Amino acid sequence: MAADAPRSNFIRQIIDKDLASGKHSSVHTRFPPEPNGFLHIGHAKSIVLNFGIAEDYQGQCNLRFDDTNPLKEKVDYVNSIQEDVKWLGYTWEGQPRYSSNYFDQLHAYAVELIEKGLAYVDFSSQDEMREMRGTLKEPGKNSPYRDTSVEENLQHFADMTAGKYEEGKAALRAKIDMSSPFMVLRDPVIYRVRFAHHHQTGDKWCVYPMYDFTHCISDALEGITHSLCTLEFQDNRRLYDWVLDNISIDCHPQQIEFSRLNLQYTVMSKRKLNLLVEEGKVSGWDDPRMPTIAGMRRRGYTPSSVREFCHRIGVTKMDNQVEMSMLEACIRDELNHGAPRAMAVIDPVRLVIENYPAGEVEQLQAPNHPNDESMGSREVPFAREIFIEREDFRESANKKYKRLVLDKEVRLRNAYVIKAERVEKDADGNITTIFCSYDPETLGKDPADGRKVKGVIHWVAAEHAKPAEFRLYDRLFQVPNPAAEEDFFSTLNPDSLVVKQGYVEPSMAAAEAEKPFQFERIGYFCADSKDSSAEHLVFNQTVGLRDTWNDEA
Ligand code: ATP
Ligand code: MG
Repeated sequence: MAADAPRSNFIRQIIDKDLASGKHSSVHTRFPPEPNGFLHIGHAKSIVLNFGIAEDYQGQCNLRFDDTNPLKEKVDYVNSIQEDVKWLGYTWEGQPRYSSNYFDQLHAYAVELIEKGLAYVDFSSQDEMREMRGTLKEPGKNSPYRDTSVEENLQHFADMTAGKYEEGKAALRAKIDMSSPFMVLRDPVIYRVRFAHHHQTGDKWCVYPMYDFTHCISDALEGITHSLCTLEFQDNRRLYDWVLDNISIDCHPQQIEFSRLNLQYTVMSKRKLNLLVEEGKVSGWDDPRMPTIAGMRRRGYTPSSVREFCHRIGVTKMDNQVEMSMLEACIRDELNHGAPRAMAVIDPVRLVIENYPAGEVEQLQAPNHPNDESMGSREVPFAREIFIEREDFRESANKKYKRLVLDKEVRLRNAYVIKAERVEKDADGNITTIFCSYDPETLGKDPADGRKVKGVIHWVAAEHAKPAEFRLYDRLFQVPNPAAEEDFFSTLNPDSLVVKQGYVEPSMAAAEAEKPFQFERIGYFCADSKDSSAEHLVFNQTVGLRDTWNDEA
């Protein structure tokens, strides 16, 4: 149960009215993905809306695979979708449903429409049908097959179903109105021939119902009260209602449309996401740079932060493009409170504390959260040789630089105050080792003589630390709306993944995959669920400590 605080929107207001007026006594929604790709953050909006409403009104929400296009659908997608919905914290009513469960009933309703003189088999070619459809300004023309008798149509549809016509040679169309101002009502195709193996029904069918015909009937068969979908289906509502009004079915769900989520610097269409995968631009649907739920999970996003984002963006009929920083703020807000702290060095330089005894190791206590004692503490080994970040040292610097500078002091996080004495360089002038001294009286307290030490830097003990790979992620595209580009590949960000080799404190060797930590002063990270192992630790950057998106703008 996700159990977030309910937030009102225009759909909930409609539902409140329906319950108050007695139109409905309970609420039943559904989430109807097509299993032709992984779920993305846009789907999360729809999931949080549909399942969230069912929870808040003590109603039910079905998971229904809208599987009428066997050519593009796969069982792998069916499985990943179920996993992602569960991960988001929701439970569907009963078993997952499939539109294909209803193929027998859908076929029977198609026959009913033919019997009523409301559907006919058209043998026109696709080009001819397009010609006859007309335009937004001009009415369409009736097909020469429009007035075929009921008996002939029944026979033709039976022949279609028996596999007597090739793909594209025959289609069943609803007989509505070729001059309707709504193109969807100009005798839409409701059944077509496809000699395709279906992941649920195998080779039983060679005719498949179209989305518009299937969706409304599936909703009605499941007793859905409110059928929530995105705005591009606004006109299709006429067809939704026409089908239900003209077949013998009692239930008539209400379709309500809301605006899609568009997120900047990424693409959301499954076709485009699939291209990124197929062309090897990312490592898979669950690449942490993808806007998919699987990608976000692998990156360390939490279900509650994704739900919180969906609540914050709200549900309206307004088209909009949401900034990536809004999504990141949700995860950052949560992790700032909830993520344990640890130390890692992603661009290491060696530091030797010359007055610290060689071979000695101290186990220092480090709090897991600076403001939350209940999160406990852990032991961090300290020794004569440590690693610090290369950028945390300068031979000389002005007062603004509050890190380690030659001849100056800095505090090592959770440890002592050290002073940089000298450096050693390689032939190219790169610093290879920084030599320091430490003040043994400064563990957990300020220097006794009252001198001030401002900066604090993080570190790991060289011999005890575990080598680790760090994957730093940036936006996948360089432009806010890549989908609008002719060649969206050309706007891919070449630096969307930067890999660093460094070290983590020893406790991190046991880090659980997908569970984010704050590596102090660096950012939030989690162990990668696919590539990280005891022999080769891999950490994904979940999000940075601060919103650098807006800084750059
Ligand atoms: P895509 O264009 O990514 O293929 P789709 O709408 O074809 O998306 P479906 O699997 O049919 O994908 O979507 C399942 C449900 O999720 C639908 O009710 C759809 O309206 C909703 N949905 C899909 N994308 C978004 C989005 N960006 N914002 C909100 N809801 C979405
Ligand atoms: Mg769809």
